[in-house]
Amino acid sequence: MNGIGRFLVVGGGVAGIAVSKHLIDQGQKVTLIDQNHKKSSTVAVGMLNPIVFRRMTKSWRVDDFLPYCESFYGFFENTAKQQLFFPITIRRFFSSEQERQFWLEKQERFDFKKYLNVILAEDIDYKRANNPFGSGRLNGAAYVQTIPFVDAGLNWVNENGRVIQEHFDFIQFDPFQRQYKETAYDGVIFCEGVGVTNNPYFRKLPVEYTKGETITVLAKELKISDSYNRKCFILPQGNDTYRVGATYVYGTLNDTVTLEGRIELEEKFQAVTNTSYTVIDQHAGIRPTTPDRRPIIGEHPEFEGLFIFNGLGTKGYMIAPLLAKEFVNQIVNNHPFDAETNLSRFKIL
Ligand SMILES: Cc1cc2nc3c(=O)[nH]c(=O)nc-3n(C[C@H](O)[C@H](O)[C@H](O)COP(=O)(O)OP(=O)(O)OC[C@H]3O[C@@H](n4cnc5c(N)ncnc54)[C@H](O)[C@@H]3O)c2cc1C
Repeated sequence: MNGIGRFLVVGGGVAGIAVSKHLIDQGQKVTLIDQNHKKSSTVAVGMLNPIVFRRMTKSWRVDDFLPYCESFYGFFENTAKQQLFFPITIRRFFSSEQERQFWLEKQERFDFKKYLNVILAEDIDYKRANNPFGSGRLNGAAYVQTIPFVDAGLNWVNENGRVIQEHFDFIQFDPFQRQYKETAYDGVIFCEGVGVTNNPYFRKLPVEYTKGETITVLAKELKISDSYNRKCFILPQGNDTYRVGATYVYGTLNDTVTLEGRIELEEKFQAVTNTSYTVIDQHAGIRPTTPDRRPIIGEHPEFEGLFIFNGLGTKGYMIAPLLAKEFVNQIVNNHPFDAETNLSRFKIL
């Protein structure tokens, strides 16, 4: 497409905000509809972790995604006049000798050096937590304050386009004209997270549902500023509080908090820390995941101008900003797009 178009974005999580931001940057007119219900993006902890620990491999395209996150979230920090993006060191407690060996092998490698610190004697002897196999310190990680980010993102989209808080009703949508109620659009982009299950055009896609729970604990004696990671993560949130997560339960759309989830997370917290604590909060949400752990992005094979941007899985906050930029560049400027994420790898008709 050439010139200025009118776009409708359905869904106001990190996906819908990132897509809208890049459309507006390209001079497009954007209306975003969000029902503000079951939003994974406000339950998420917002961790951006460059390493998959068990095999000590880099997360998918991390060297592209992470630097872009800094500028993307930095943009919303400026608009909201509030810090949203927090660089953090992660201390990983190895789960086995083999895992420590993987780290030792990679810590000197050019492509891992910026993330893996050289393991020191004090990391092996680190006594403030249960540490049978030693630990290593990881650079380059960060977390996003997710609730203020979503607020800042939707505010900015509303100031530079339009945000409507309502349920998108498919009965009032004509996919041939791309008309919703009285207005026709050049493109309609569905960013509904697990809400895609109710979308008649894309519901055959294999978006899976992976429930996650987190707890927040008050632990006055813990006094750590790094994030701990082993079996779970422990993320300092200030005032002696820590977010602890997350659980993984596959195939459910029930997003209520459970006693099982809380017990699992308390056991994992205690396995690392040995400190006294009180649980002060608990959250649950559903991650939109996919069988091959890659997002699903692209145009409907039958209805021109109907797009999907979904399946962000466990790493939505890290991958959505740059993928949205690349996706918008494709639909507005015909730039080539990451084939690994292409909707065409699945049959939906
Ligand atoms: C416990 C937990 C912890 C997590 N931790 C992290 C983490 O540390 N780091 C990370 O990167 N990711 C994390 N995630 C994953 C992350 O939350 C997701 O990858 C991401 O939020 C998905 O964003 P989304 O915009 O696709 O979906 P959502 O955030 O779910 O947004 C979709 C929006 O679309 C709306 N919608 C759907 N249908 C309609 C309709 N018909 N009309 C109007 N609106 C509609 C929904 O109400 C919702 O507001 C975590 C997830 C969970 C559950």
